[in-house]
Amino acid sequence: MFCSIIKGDIPSTKVYEDETVFAFKDINPVAPVHILIVPKNHLSSVNDVTEENSAVIAHIYEVAAKLAKEMGIAESGYRVVSNCGKDAGQTVFHLHFHLLGGKVLKLEMC
Ligand SMILES: [Zn+2]
Repeated sequence: MFCSIIKGDIPSTKVYEDETVFAFKDINPVAPVHILIVPKNHLSSVNDVTEENSAVIAHIYEVAAKLAKEMGIAESGYRVVSNCGKDAGQTVFHLHFHLLGGKVLKLEMC
């Protein structure tokens, strides 16, 4: 599904894109700022992160910091979270990081 969003086959509200990372607004936001940041290369979940491909994870955090500043939540605070597997509530099996902010976040949110 996210591969189709990255390709543009499924429309999304893109907020950032470069060679390795794509970011877009979550269609069911649970906070005033709710962005999904995904690697363009398909990884199913955190379980697929290895020594060979983990550089993109560091890059995703760079993008998260940049977007948090742009969205005005860098100082008020935000959360970057990736759910892995059934018990964590992962619903789309293309690795993604939620960037959440703009309100006081409860412990369990997405
Ligand atoms: Zn995918």
